[in-house]
Amino acid sequence: CGIVACIIKDEASTVLLECVRRLEYRGYDSVGIATLSEDLYIKKGEGKIDEVQEKIVLTDIPGNMGIAQVRWATHGLPTGKNAHPHTDCQKRIAVVHNGIIENYKEIKNSLIDEGHIFVSDTDTEVIPHLIEKYMDMGNGLEVATRMTTKDIKGSYAIAAISADEPDKIIGVRKESPLIVGVGEKEFFIASDVPAVLDHTNKIIYLNDNEMVILTADGVIVKDDEGKVLEKEIETIEWT
Ligand code: GLU
Repeated sequence: CGIVACIIKDEASTVLLECVRRLEYRGYDSVGIATLSEDLYIKKGEGKIDEVQEKIVLTDIPGNMGIAQVRWATHGLPTGKNAHPHTDCQKRIAVVHNGIIENYKEIKNSLIDEGHIFVSDTDTEVIPHLIEKYMDMGNGLEVATRMTTKDIKGSYAIAAISADEPDKIIGVRKESPLIVGVGEKEFFIASDVPAVLDHTNKIIYLNDNEMVILTADGVIVKDDEGKVLEKEIETIEWT
């Protein structure tokens, strides 16, 4: 299981699928992609990457930015419905997640009381709905995601995008790995370094509770209060 995200110069879907393929070694049961251009596009399904690609074609969605995941089901069966990315009610937000949200039941119940409608059996689905709730209160994607991390307990590496802010990707982690790949006007997030090495060997390692904001102009890392952090960019030598 693992996640990737990128903002690149060309179409993102093929690159996202290549990157997520490099995480296959971590084990998985389903795969999915979301991209952003004018709108939010999502393709996902149960099975190995090649099987799903053959059945539903994951790479025909437009946009030069997006997120992808290979899922190892922990909550909810390995079905297409439970595959990531997951969305909010309005299908404006998409989230991929690696890890476990321990308190998802309480959150899900209170969101249902507030009128949210859930379509999967996953713990993950509370994340886009919480982001939606905080964005509906007038917050941007970054602040809404930070507020969401204060509500959820457990382990997570998350990447989130919103059709309302189609210029950025938010990544955040706690107790699940997440790295940032810094290329030439191409930026990546991934669960592990091999996912991005075809594109860049300049890596920022995120620590627990750190958030990265990816745009076409670069990457900014912040702490859990929103303070900008100076992070070292390491150069990975590979042969
Ligand atoms: N807990 C999430 C799920 O079951 C994410 C699993 C994973 O890390 O792949 O959907």
